[in-house]
Amino acid sequence: MACLVGLPTLVIMPLSRRSLLRLGVGTATGLAAAGVAGCAPGTDEPTPDPTCVSRSSLSGHRSLGDADLIYDISQNRNTFWFDDGFYGQLGRWLDDYRELTGAAKPDQVWTYGSWLDGGPDCDSWHDAGRAFDLSRLVRNGEVQVSARYDIWKDYAEDRRRRFRTRYWALAASLHLHFAYVLTYLYNPTHHNHIHIDNGRSGEQLSTFSTRSTAQVQAVQGMLNHIWDRPVEITGDFDRATAKAARSVLEQTGTDGGLDDGVDQWRAFLRATAARRIKRH
Ligand SMILES: [Zn+2]
Repeated sequence: MACLVGLPTLVIMPLSRRSLLRLGVGTATGLAAAGVAGCAPGTDEPTPDPTCVSRSSLSGHRSLGDADLIYDISQNRNTFWFDDGFYGQLGRWLDDYRELTGAAKPDQVWTYGSWLDGGPDCDSWHDAGRAFDLSRLVRNGEVQVSARYDIWKDYAEDRRRRFRTRYWALAASLHLHFAYVLTYLYNPTHHNHIHIDNGRSGEQLSTFSTRSTAQVQAVQGMLNHIWDRPVEITGDFDRATAKAARSVLEQTGTDGGLDDGVDQWRAFLRATAARRIKRH
C-alpha cells in the first residue's frame, strides 16, 4: 500500500472526572479503562440498555487476529477485556475489512479501550465488554489507516485527503458489521477514535435506520469523501442525501435506495469500503 506515514507523536488525552473515577475503581484494568469517556449510547434510535458485567466474566486479549492490541495513550501492548461474542465479531470485521479494501494484514491494532468498570453509573456498552474504541491500524511501524482525525485534520490537503478517504472506507466496513458506530462527525469525543458496539445489532450485521443520526452522518461523510457527491452533513436523511446514495447504488449495480432494505444498505457500505482501491 502506498502513502504510509510514520507514527505521530504521543498525545495524552484529557480524562473526564468520571473516567478518572473509573480508573480509581478499576485499577486492575490499568490503562485499558482510560480515555473512553463519552462513548455511552446517545443515538436517537432506541437501543436496549447495556448489561454491565464484571471483568471476571470476560476474556482478556492482547491481540486481535494476528495483530497486537496497543493502547493509544501509552503506545504499549496491553490486555483488553471483551465479551466473547463481540470479540469474535471484531475478528470477522477485521478479516472483512482487509478483503474489501485490499489492505495488508496489520500487525498492530491501536485502541483507547474496550471494557471498563461502569460501577454504579454503568450506562455504556463498554461496561458490558461489547464496545471498542479503534484509533489506528499499523503495519511495520507505519499507519495504514487512522481514526485520529485530531491529528490528520491538520495535514496538508493531499495528505489529509488520503487519510480521510481511508478513514471513510474503514468507517464503512465498521458500519457494515456494527449498527452503532460513532465517527468524528458525531461529536468531538470521537475525534481520536471510532466507537463501535453491538448493543443495537447484536450478533447480526447492521441494518440502517433513517432516524439514526450517527448512521446518516456517516452516509453523508462517505458520499462527500469517497463518492464525490457533495451533500450537507446534517444527520437528517434528507432528499439530497437519499438521492445521492441512490445514485451511488445505481452506479455500483444495485437498484433502490438506502431506506429500501438491508441489501441496499450493505451493498452501499461494501462498495464504499472497496472504492478506495480504485482511487488510490
Ligand atoms: Zn467507545
